[in-house]
Amino acid sequence: MSSLICVKCGKKAIKNEIFCVDCFPISIKVKPIKMFFCSRCRRYRLKEWKALSKEELKDHLIGKIKVNPGVIVDAELDFKNKKATLFIAHSDNEFKREINFDIEFVRTICTRCSKKAGGYFEAIIQLRGNKEKFPYLFKKIEKMLVKKGEFISKVEERKEGIDIFTSSSKLSREILNELGLSYKMSRKLHGLKEGKRIYRLTLAVRVE
Ligand SMILES: [Zn+2]
Ligand SMILES: [Zn+2]
Repeated sequence: MSSLICVKCGKKAIKNEIFCVDCFPISIKVKPIKMFFCSRCRRYRLKEWKALSKEELKDHLIGKIKVNPGVIVDAELDFKNKKATLFIAHSDNEFKREINFDIEFVRTICTRCSKKAGGYFEAIIQLRGNKEKFPYLFKKIEKMLVKKGEFISKVEERKEGIDIFTSSSKLSREILNELGLSYKMSRKLHGLKEGKRIYRLTLAVRVE
């Protein structure tokens, strides 16, 4: 049997329900959220550091809100006043709910940016030989490093070629392999970290 008016407020009830769209009980759970972001590269700390568009950030935050019954189809987030308006769909009806949304953005520096600022490097790729190909190769190497979250910390131009200081020895080798460049590798002990020897690699590439 369907009730015509809401038992709580007396407005028109939803079909086959005893409540109107405003009074229909929906449980909404959301814990306070802290979002750490890097003030240099503007990435957010999720499982790993990630760049998020406004839409992606919103989707991520909506994902933290649990509603029952129904699903959140859209939301307006008001960071300043710590409030959110949720649009929830449930069995042919759409519900609008206002909630307190305690979110704090915390400025920090990500590992990549702090290493970069400190001039960190693990490997030196030395390009030697055909200088005409250097600009192209440099661009390629840089692009491939950045794509994987690594970076070039320094470039030194020398009479005999260029030295590219990179933040990852493992990735530097992978990149050279992928580019089909053969190299001579040497390593130098750089120091100890948690009892392990840390080496810096020099990868000497002869460009044909
Ligand atoms: Zn009502
Ligand atoms: Zn950063």
